[in-house]
Amino acid sequence: MAKDIDWGSLAFGYIKTDKRYVSNFKNGEWDEGTLTEDNTVVLNECAGVLQYAQTCFEGLKAYTTEQGKVVVFRPDLNAQRLADSARRLECPVFPEDRFVDAVVKTVEANLEFVPPYGSGATLYLRPYLFGSSEVIGVKPATEYQFRLFATPVGPYFKGGVRPLTLRISDLDRAAPNGTGHVKAGLNYAMSLYNIVDAHNQGYDENLYVDAKTRKMIEETGGANIIFITKDNKVVTPKSDTILPSITRRSLMYVAKEYLGLEVEERDVMVSELGDFAEAGLCGTAAVISPVGKIVDHGEEICIPSGMEGMGPITQKLYDTLTGIQMGRIEAPEGWIKIIK
Ligand SMILES: *Cc1c(COP(=O)(O)O)cnc(C)c1O
Repeated sequence: MAKDIDWGSLAFGYIKTDKRYVSNFKNGEWDEGTLTEDNTVVLNECAGVLQYAQTCFEGLKAYTTEQGKVVVFRPDLNAQRLADSARRLECPVFPEDRFVDAVVKTVEANLEFVPPYGSGATLYLRPYLFGSSEVIGVKPATEYQFRLFATPVGPYFKGGVRPLTLRISDLDRAAPNGTGHVKAGLNYAMSLYNIVDAHNQGYDENLYVDAKTRKMIEETGGANIIFITKDNKVVTPKSDTILPSITRRSLMYVAKEYLGLEVEERDVMVSELGDFAEAGLCGTAAVISPVGKIVDHGEEICIPSGMEGMGPITQKLYDTLTGIQMGRIEAPEGWIKIIK
């Protein structure tokens, strides 16, 4: 039985659901984990996460398919990525099979919050991991907590699709050999100033370039970018400092294997932005958000697909991937984890 929620008007925000999953790491091992109704975290004032930002996170969605099944999309890849992030931040890895099990348990415990098929809303899942024991000298914590909560979120394109305006950023998101490739809270903390500034200047997002040469496109603060060439190739930047988006990787696969398009992961130069026919940001929240305009220090680069909606190839990619997610199109082996 679904809760009495107006799914269509939900924002992307936090709503307390019934249960969340918690496991603690102490004396070198993770405990068995449990579901709890308590949505608060009580920490020592000197906890590693509070002092030195030792934390990483994930984001994925549970939703109802056309067949009425409650599913999640490729949670094994989120498990892997959290493990990679944990290793880079010197946190203990939460075992990947246990991560998927925690996803299943949390969704099962909050089934009433899974929006119905066709509502456009989803149950957003937020797994995260942080240093919970006290640390004053700079070193990793000795105790950690893994948590996973769920919150229902509304359809991303509520008032219809609105192409975004990006600005090429002067501030950097990721240093060469830094932490751009892991999903660490620290990458977001330091992006807040820039996103607030971008919004104040009338832009939707910052488009970051590589910090070394400042000539190549990387991604925005929270989404990867894909481009469509005038001859219908799907191009995405290749860089070690980009966060490996599961949505982007899935879209590239769909482009090649479902739509028969040529795909390229390669350097994308700022100087070639004017050559593309379409552009879109990819991430779990929106799947693809079309980009209508990129502003490079006063120079406006208008993407030919325009400010009215998605370009035709972007639309096909979007329809195919969301079709796979929603059970309308057959999914590649292992992409859809059925919960109920
Ligand atoms: C989470 C994230 C993305 C999107 O990844 P998905 O797995 O597709 O949700 C892209 N860029 C950054 C910087 C991110 O943190």
